[in-house]
Amino acid sequence: MPLSVASISKRRARICVRGIVQGVGFRPFVYQLAQELSLGGFVLNGGDGVIIEAEGRPVSIDNFIDKLNSNPPPLARIDSFRCVDIEPQGDDEFIIQHSNRGKIKTMVSSDISMCSACKDEMNDPKNRRYKYPFINCTDCGPRYTIIENLPYDRVNTSMSVFSMCSKCKQEYEDPSNRRFHAQPVSCYDCGPSLYFLDLEGQINAKGEDAIEDTCRMIKEGKSVGIKGLGGFHIVCDANNEEAVRNLRKNKNRPTKPLAVMFKNIEKIKEVCLLTKADEEMILSKERPIVIVQKKRSGNLAYSIAPNISRIGVFLPYTPLHERVLDALDSPIVATSANLSDESIIVDEKSLIQKLSHVLSAVLSHDRKILNACDDSVCMISNNKTILMRMARGYAPLSISLKQKSLKKIMAVGANQKSTLALAFDDNLILSPHIGDLNSLDAFDYFQRTMQTFKRFYNFEPDIIVCDKHPNYETSKWAKEFAKENSNTVLLEVQHHYAHALACMAEHNLDEKVLAFCFDGTGYGDDNTLWGGEVLIADPVDYERIKHFRPIRLIGGEKAVREPNRIALSLLFEMYSFEDILNMDIECVKSFTNKELKTLYMMYEKGLNSPLSSSVGRLFDAVASLSGVSQKVAYEGESGILLECAAENSYTKDAFSYVKDENVIDYRPMIKELLQEKDKDAVALKFISMLKNIIIDICDEYPYLNVVFSGGVFQNRLLVSQLTQALDKKNRKYYMQDKTPINDGGIALGQAYHAHYIQRIKIGK
Ligand code: ZN
Ligand code: ZN
Ligand code: FE
Repeated sequence: MPLSVASISKRRARICVRGIVQGVGFRPFVYQLAQELSLGGFVLNGGDGVIIEAEGRPVSIDNFIDKLNSNPPPLARIDSFRCVDIEPQGDDEFIIQHSNRGKIKTMVSSDISMCSACKDEMNDPKNRRYKYPFINCTDCGPRYTIIENLPYDRVNTSMSVFSMCSKCKQEYEDPSNRRFHAQPVSCYDCGPSLYFLDLEGQINAKGEDAIEDTCRMIKEGKSVGIKGLGGFHIVCDANNEEAVRNLRKNKNRPTKPLAVMFKNIEKIKEVCLLTKADEEMILSKERPIVIVQKKRSGNLAYSIAPNISRIGVFLPYTPLHERVLDALDSPIVATSANLSDESIIVDEKSLIQKLSHVLSAVLSHDRKILNACDDSVCMISNNKTILMRMARGYAPLSISLKQKSLKKIMAVGANQKSTLALAFDDNLILSPHIGDLNSLDAFDYFQRTMQTFKRFYNFEPDIIVCDKHPNYETSKWAKEFAKENSNTVLLEVQHHYAHALACMAEHNLDEKVLAFCFDGTGYGDDNTLWGGEVLIADPVDYERIKHFRPIRLIGGEKAVREPNRIALSLLFEMYSFEDILNMDIECVKSFTNKELKTLYMMYEKGLNSPLSSSVGRLFDAVASLSGVSQKVAYEGESGILLECAAENSYTKDAFSYVKDENVIDYRPMIKELLQEKDKDAVALKFISMLKNIIIDICDEYPYLNVVFSGGVFQNRLLVSQLTQALDKKNRKYYMQDKTPINDGGIALGQAYHAHYIQRIKIGK
């Protein structure tokens, strides 16, 4: 075909962009770029992402493509970018076309902290949104937490009840404006209103006065509820020891560390030692809680993180938090408002009903939270991010699969730190942190989240995946569901294999890897409790090549809260009862003679004393034997205490172990440990031993890439030692940094496995 005159001087490109490109200011960005380069054509939201046709001088088109790729809007994430040349049509003007509502595939984006442009406006007395506590734009503000349904349009959000004033509407409709199609856009004239409630639910103040009253109460040492993006916080003065202690007492939370929100990064640096990576993470647009090193001096109340040298810190992430912190001199404790074992509270009525014994008043507003979402929690070790809770700012997370999924897959995860994962088309999606499913309320929240995701993606599962543990609430639910829906296939995945798979999923790995899955306890294929597993795994299958020598957990579940029982069990295995009675160590002394006899009997007979190869439990045993702690108040406490102790030691030594073909035997360590009187050295030698074990096994399998997953890898010191050693050896390894490395990642791993085996086992 001969080229037309137009096509000689002009070029037209059709571009398809997929990923997070809806509700993040992508179309106005394209529009403005096209304007700048004098291009004609259009941009629209298709069912499959954003579609652009751009026409103009060839050099300008090149430029356009280049800039789209290299400098997209801050909240956008481009997963695929396809571009083909088509016949020019003589367009001079560039327009934003109305959405072509096809099949909805565009991903839901997460809630993002206030951007600097909005912050500047909020602080500008001449701006019409001066001090406005709900300011936002396409670069920031609520998303997931206010979405009822897709596509992401105002009518499908909890902003639908607020009709835009003419000024806001103008901004919303102007493609050159920062608020073009910013769904939650609002102002004093048309947006949500702020109010201050007493415990009767009566409004006592509004607007500015509400903020003032809140701050006055905080200064008086009282606890106040404050509405955030995905739920309420309980807040009090973080410099006021008595206030913090009262909060703890009333909330019945004796020692589990509390997070603290500071006005700005400088204030954090006054009381914490930050690495550059810590600082960047704290300042990132996701604004997670970052666990950092506390300085020994500083005004922070001791009870915020008793006995440990770590603290979780974060910065204000909504304009409202910003306003509150601005009016205070001290940082604030900001902990999720919930009853223990229950989900985060999202409405003021339940807040007052459930927590009136903790709170004095509530700062709230009338923009509804439709989907609860906790704060995300992470820490940084040797420049690696360890995500302990993936929620606000990150969730829902989408990963694009290498190959399309033929079936709709839903994975229900584990029982603790529950999350959900969906796979369909080439998407793998992980829900935000739901929490431990130890109460009816929590399970209710799990089911609500499931409904939300089913609604978003118009999703009914063909395959449902759960853990092998017969007593997980999620497994029971999945089995019931499969029974009632005969078209749904049920798959069970071993817990630690799912940990390895989670890491593989995040990095899209499909080759064989050497996986270290060190964890609390999970149900093993041999009906014992696993948790110190070395696997050779790919997405289809795995082989358990090594595991830690199993320990008897005397009293089962009880032993998880009482590390001294696990330590005692190890002693029973290695020493006579008489020898143990004569041992002058805290572990033994923490029991009466009668208790020792009973426990010995249980151990001997194997009564309610399941075997477990868990490394998490080994941490417990070492914490007890070294005298660091005999009981734990929250999960993972012995790990944190040992880590803090180890940091005080400079020993280069490590404890010994022996390794045969299948079993890693740490009994030599126990003997050495009982000789070592320095607790700090015990802690460090233990962690160094774990590192040595891993490196040793890595050396046995030099040709496999290495994967780490499981709760034990939340230990900053272990991760730091390990990654340094592997970096030195130039060994390729993978660790999760976008998805939770603990049980929060299990659902992701389960779905990834189902995705790979659907072709093999389920057919078609
Ligand atoms: Zn903004
Ligand atoms: Zn307005
Ligand atoms: Fe686990």
